[in-house]
Amino acid sequence: MFGGVFVTELLRALRQVAALYDELARARRVTTTTPGRDEHLAALAAEHVADVADEADLVAVRRREARRLEGELRDLEARLQERRARKAVVQDLHAAQALTHELAHLQAQRDDLETQIFKAWDDAEAESARLAAVEEASGETVARIADQREDLAVHERQAAAALAEVETELQTALAALPIRVTSKLSRLSARYDNPVSGLAAGGCDACGQMLPQQQAIDADHDRALPVCTGCGRFIVARRGTRRGEWM
Ligand SMILES: [Zn+2]
Repeated sequence: MFGGVFVTELLRALRQVAALYDELARARRVTTTTPGRDEHLAALAAEHVADVADEADLVAVRRREARRLEGELRDLEARLQERRARKAVVQDLHAAQALTHELAHLQAQRDDLETQIFKAWDDAEAESARLAAVEEASGETVARIADQREDLAVHERQAAAALAEVETELQTALAALPIRVTSKLSRLSARYDNPVSGLAAGGCDACGQMLPQQQAIDADHDRALPVCTGCGRFIVARRGTRRGEWM
């Protein structure tokens, strides 16, 4: 297919092209997955805020309950006073006995209510302490999530910048290749992130298809540019290493 010095040059150019395709794919992955990851983080932060709101609601409920019981107690005290006043002036013996009975009953009710109020305020206080703990933990988590989102945004901007830059670099590198190599690469790149595969254990690194032994040896010695019969990619030994500082 190709021969001599030319193939060495071609393979070197293809290694560079392969590295660029890799970087392009990584940058694309970052730019396409970032919105979803950011959305997930935003939902997580909202969940923590909602937890705090739920806890605050519970505190409000407990306090409302305690105040409602205090209102009941005030009504009860008023009734007690009214009965005591009546008892002080009552003449009829039966009526006096009935009032004594009622007063005892109201006093027992009042004692019970006081116990309930004490417990209600106790519950409200415990709930309030729990709210403070949840607020603190959530505050820290929400702040950490905000940091993560900021990092994500920075990473995305870097990836987007790299994407544009690598795209240009790739076009330049492709333009320097023989036209039939370029057109094959552009066809393959519609199907694969990287149309250039590496040589791995005598076969295609991308799909695992083995090369005829001599072809594998030639590819390994930079004497040939095989095309994989399994996936159609070019196979280049010792394909370019990772590049790009933004990763
Ligand atoms: Zn293959």
